[in-house]
Amino acid sequence: MSATVAFLDLGAAYRELKEEIDAAVHRVLASGCYVLGAEVEAFEAEWAAYCQAQHAVGVSNGLDALILALQALGIGPGDEVIVPSNTYIATWLAVSEVGAVVAPVEPDPSTYTLDPARVEASISPRTRAILAVHLYGQPADLDPLLTLARRYGLYLIEDAAQAHGARYKGQRIGAHGDAVCWSFYPSKNLGALGDAGAVTTNDSAIAERIRLLRNYGSRRKYHHELRGRNARLDPIQAAVLRVKLAYLDSWNERRRALAACYHEKLACSELALPKQAPWADHVWHLFVVRTPKRDELQRHLATQGIETLIHYPIPPHRQTAYRDLFSTDKTVLPIAEILAGEVLSLPIGPHVKLEAAERIAQLTITWQGLQT
Ligand SMILES: *Cc1c(COP(=O)(O)O)cnc(C)c1O
Repeated sequence: MSATVAFLDLGAAYRELKEEIDAAVHRVLASGCYVLGAEVEAFEAEWAAYCQAQHAVGVSNGLDALILALQALGIGPGDEVIVPSNTYIATWLAVSEVGAVVAPVEPDPSTYTLDPARVEASISPRTRAILAVHLYGQPADLDPLLTLARRYGLYLIEDAAQAHGARYKGQRIGAHGDAVCWSFYPSKNLGALGDAGAVTTNDSAIAERIRLLRNYGSRRKYHHELRGRNARLDPIQAAVLRVKLAYLDSWNERRRALAACYHEKLACSELALPKQAPWADHVWHLFVVRTPKRDELQRHLATQGIETLIHYPIPPHRQTAYRDLFSTDKTVLPIAEILAGEVLSLPIGPHVKLEAAERIAQLTITWQGLQT
């Protein structure tokens, strides 16, 4: 019996960098500074430079990054924000949190990212922003979305929680839209050892508003310019992220090698494999295949010790949280619903071995031969 393959081994990521991470954490512990301060500022400067953006503001997590970006742009009650129908629910929850209304748009079924033609058809007089998601590590087609945003006077916000290091037409994700929102949740391509997030932007006024909003609307202690919140990046997490940032490119390369292996070994299978769009340098946060027999394949791999996951099994409009906005009996967003029934994420990550990917591909081909 061959070894089992976990979908994700976060402990392995820590063990590989243990000495450096431990030293970074101890540096913060010894500094006596436990909220904001030099460590957060240093990470912000390094993350902005990496993303080819002028500003980065460290915040508490990815959901707060989205909420703060929407607030900084003045989006709230009475406004509509275009969101993908096939995203992690955080994208939608941020819009709802600021009191705006989600206007879901279906993705391009080959890239799984927002389809600009469908976006244009969904723009209403109340639309204030397009919130694009670089799903699974692949950038959405940003140029046509930027053209639409300019033509209709909308903001373009990017949910880049799965796209650390990805490029659109050669330029790093980080400053194409008005605000780019990052999560450093532990499983992301750049992951902290707890919750963390950031917003990058080339607009100094937006950066400044987010800087205030994350810290009680305050620049000077006990002077409050805005009704802000406490949504600050923790300096211990900032120190860990500074260590891991130095490895992001090489760890993304490991993901690319695994994706190339899956593509090669599964080319002859009947699975729909992920497609890299011509504009994209994909960073393979997830390797998502599709088959109408998804549940059977998942069960088969599980019997062989292979852990797979589904991103995502229930689209946001089918969640109880959004029951009031969408009637449950009508198919309103068919692409999102088909994807939810067919997608399967194979193990990928900096600590998945190439031999494991080869074995998973082989098991998949064998399984397919057993299907009638
Ligand atoms: C992870 C993720 C988020 C939320 O990030 P948190 O840090 O967990 O709040 C938002 N959007 C997408 C697409 C994500 O994958």
